Order: sequence, then structure tokens, then C-alpha cells
Amino acid sequence: MKFLRRKKFKIFEKLRELLGKEKVFLSEEELLSYSYDASSLIRIPSAVILPDKKEEVIEVLRWIKEHQIPLTPRGSGTSTTGSALAHTGGVILCFSRMNRILELYEEERIVRVEPGVLNGELKAYLKRFELFYPPDPASMNFSTIGGNIATGAGGPRGLKYGTTKDYVLALEVVLPGGKVLKTGPPTLKKATSYNLTSLFVGSEGTLGVFTEIFLKVLPYPEKRILFLSFHTLEEEPLEIISQILKAGLTPASSEFIDQTSIKALKQTSGFKIPLDLEPGVRSLLFLEFDGSASEVRELITKIEKFYSQNSIRFIKAEKEKDIEVLWEVRRALSPALKVLGTSKIADDVVVPRRFMKVLLSEIRKLESESGIFISCFGHAGDGNFHVNLLFEEEKRGKALEVRENIIKKVLELSGTISGEHGIGYTKRSYVNLELSPLEIEIIKKLKKIFDPDGLLNPLVKLPD
Ligand SMILES: Cc1cc2nc3c(=O)[nH]c(=O)nc-3n(C[C@H](O)[C@H](O)[C@H](O)COP(=O)(O)OP(=O)(O)OC[C@H]3O[C@@H](n4cnc5c(N)ncnc54)[C@H](O)[C@@H]3O)c2cc1C
Repeated sequence: MKFLRRKKFKIFEKLRELLGKEKVFLSEEELLSYSYDASSLIRIPSAVILPDKKEEVIEVLRWIKEHQIPLTPRGSGTSTTGSALAHTGGVILCFSRMNRILELYEEERIVRVEPGVLNGELKAYLKRFELFYPPDPASMNFSTIGGNIATGAGGPRGLKYGTTKDYVLALEVVLPGGKVLKTGPPTLKKATSYNLTSLFVGSEGTLGVFTEIFLKVLPYPEKRILFLSFHTLEEEPLEIISQILKAGLTPASSEFIDQTSIKALKQTSGFKIPLDLEPGVRSLLFLEFDGSASEVRELITKIEKFYSQNSIRFIKAEKEKDIEVLWEVRRALSPALKVLGTSKIADDVVVPRRFMKVLLSEIRKLESESGIFISCFGHAGDGNFHVNLLFEEEKRGKALEVRENIIKKVLELSGTISGEHGIGYTKRSYVNLELSPLEIEIIKKLKKIFDPDGLLNPLVKLPD
């Protein structure tokens, strides 16, 4: 693996001449601005390129092959795993200027976009046509569709609507050397080839660079209802989800917030709703349902009856505006966790839903033994916990030990180390614990087919 030393590379000046100076950043200040993502790692790139059309992307991919320069694609840089950083000092190819919604095929419910479109902007655009793009990472207002696809992003709506992988119909991908690959026609069905589109979903910038994306969209649901309930037993929401699913109801979203996260929320101010987190409250459950007006009316009756029979305190929101205000509490959580520790290790593990309570209880045991805060909130309907270890830097060694114990427990429970954030740089050393030698051999061979010189996003996703 080659590590670039920036000063040696006059070559970046040449690239600037080729693309124009407003497209290639080389100053210390500019490079520093692209040296971090949400992982808290810092890696200073050698150059940052901001193309605004696909011909420039092709040119750059040709150039990196010719000069053997590593390249990291980047959307908004909200990766929690260090996957948007130039770990070996190459170029960052940032898609923030390729942010056009190109075409809506309304009658087919398909939209064609550039990779730099923000998820939230796409949602707002589609709403004008009563259409809806379901994947809803908490970062949706500031993360890009290209980044969402490359990480396989999910969100609270995963239980009913699935995640990003369920909406990507076809991709235009540029490979090192500048060849353009179209992963099939943008049809709703196709069975001619292996599914190359899905190979790129979750590929974390290691196989190719997306320049155009076809997404499936859905009709906007007629009516939504959101319940937020307050629990004195921490694991109660996990039990409630099981009961709701057993009763044949499918929430559009179900989000669990644990006792450690509540500690952080209590110290956060400025919520637009009265959030009564009295001392006895040890967990929260967000449950959203959607459908036709009559379906939703029926669901409201059932859930209210269930909560009152079980003496569970709740509030509900029915108007779109009020629903979004309530969801802001959930979206405020990641930033709020900072009050529990200046350093953070963030994981997004998944276990079969029936084992969530076992995992939660193991995490509480590790928290009390280690003295490290472990928040454990997330998409309870999908078995997906966002596990965040929060600590002061001098305790990093202890925190890494706790993290490894959690990962081992997850794998013992037939789970996976990442449900939606990907592996990035920060979890690479654990991949060998989950994948078999045969799986690793196959993914390394696939990487070689698309990127034989190992130029795309080095030190990300694949184990050594
Ligand atoms: C507060 C907060 C909340 C979050 N909540 C969630 C959540 O609920 N669910 C969830 O899944 N994630 C969540 N995330 C993580 C993050 O937002 C997602 O991983 C998101 O998909 C990253 O998008 P981005 O545009 O920021 O991509 P970046 O971080 O810039 O890049 C992510 C990956 O995509 C690759 N990439 C970017 N653009 C392209 C392209 N055009 N072609 C090929 N590869 C590309 C990069 O190389 C990198 O590997 C959260 C992050 C934060 C900070």
C-alpha cells in the first residue's frame, strides 16, 4: 500500500490545470475542511476535487489510474466509520456539486438523480407530487443519496419499508481508468444478469463511483400517526414491539431509546414539545403507523387501548408538522450524547429480534462493570441497536475492550457488526470475526475485478 506525501506531488497542480482551479482544492485550509467525517478521525488528503458533471468524474478516474493515486468518494462526510476519509493521503472526490434531481417518471414512480442530492431535499421534492422516498437515516437532512447508497443507509422506517437497498433500481458507475458501467436498465424487474446494482449498495466507495442513480419511490401515505410512550422498565418497549408484530400490526417505524440515552436527552434543551422525562422513565418507544385514513383510525383505537390496559403513559401526534417535531427528539439524540463523554465509539449492530433483550442486558452489565457510558438506542423492529460508547480519552483502552466484548456477544447471538453504517476504517479489524475465510476470499476477488490496483478507498471495508 502506497502512502502519499503531499509535498512530493506537483502532479496535483497539473490536475488543477486540467479541471480548472475552482474544481481542485489544494490549500491547507481547504484540505483540512475535508480531513474529517463523523468518526472523529482526521486524515488530511492531498487534494480535494469537486466535479459538477460526470465527464469530469470520468477524467479524474482516468487520471488516478494513470498516476496510481488513491481516491475516496465523498458525499456530505457524515460517515460514522471513517469511510469518507483519505486514509493513505490520496484525493477526495466530493459530490456536493453534483446535486441535481434529473428526472421524475411520475407514472412509473421512478426518479433519476445525481449522487450529491440530499436525502431530505429529495423527500421534499417528491412530496410535491404526493410521492415518497422511505429510507430515513437520522442524518437525512444533511447526507447524500450517493453516500446513503454506498453505506446501505437505513432508518426508523426499515421495519415496514426496508432500507436504501430496496429502492436502488440501477446505477451508473465510473471505474478506475474511466470506464462507465451501467448496472442494468432502470426497470422494476430484471433477471438477465447477476444483480450488480446490489453489489454496489454498501460498497463504501471501494468498487466504483456513482454518477447517476435510479430510485424507486412510493405514493405518500394518506395518513400518519406517531405515538411516543414512556417506560419505567427499560426493556419493556422491546417486548411491546414483539407483541405488536405478533398481533399482525406493522409499524412504519419503531424506535427504542434506552436509559443511558435518556440521561443525555435530559441535559439537552430546546425541544419544541414538553418532554416529561421524570426520574422513573428508563426508556422511550416511538411507534409510527401509516396507511389510509380508515386503517390509521383503527390502529389508533387499538394502540390506545393497549397502552391504557397496560398503564403506559404516552403522547401522540397526528398532524404532519407535530409528527416531525416529535421525531426531532430522536434526531437530536446522536449530537446530545456528547454530554456523556468527549470521545465516542459508535457501532450499529444487529441481532435477531428475539435476542435484543439478551444483548441489552449484557450491555448494561458491561456498562456497570466498566464505568463507561453505553447508549443503546435504535431501530428496535429491525433488531438494530446503535451502540455508542462514551468516555474520556484516557479510558480508550478500556472502551475498546468493552466494544470487543459487545461484538463477540452480537456474533454469538447470530448477529452482524453493521446493519447500516458499514465497516469503514473503524471496524475493519472485526470483519474477520464475522466472515468466513471463504467469504473473505470471494470479496477480495470481487474487489480486484473492479479495482485491480486497489486505488478506491484504501483501508476501508475490506480486512487486511
Ligand atoms: C447525526 C448522525 C445520524 C446518523 N443517523 C444514521 C441513521 O439513522 N442511519 C444510517 O444508516 N446512518 C446514519 N448516519 C451515518 C451517515 O449519515 C450515513 O452513513 C450516510 O449514508 C452517509 O452519507 P454521506 O453523504 O454523508 O456520505 P459520506 O459520509 O461522505 O460517505 C459515506 C461513504 O459513501 C461513499 N460515497 C459517497 N458518495 C459516493 C459516490 N458518489 N459513489 C461511491 N461512493 C460514494 C464514501 O466513499 C464513503 O465510503 C448518521 C450520521 C450522523 C452524523
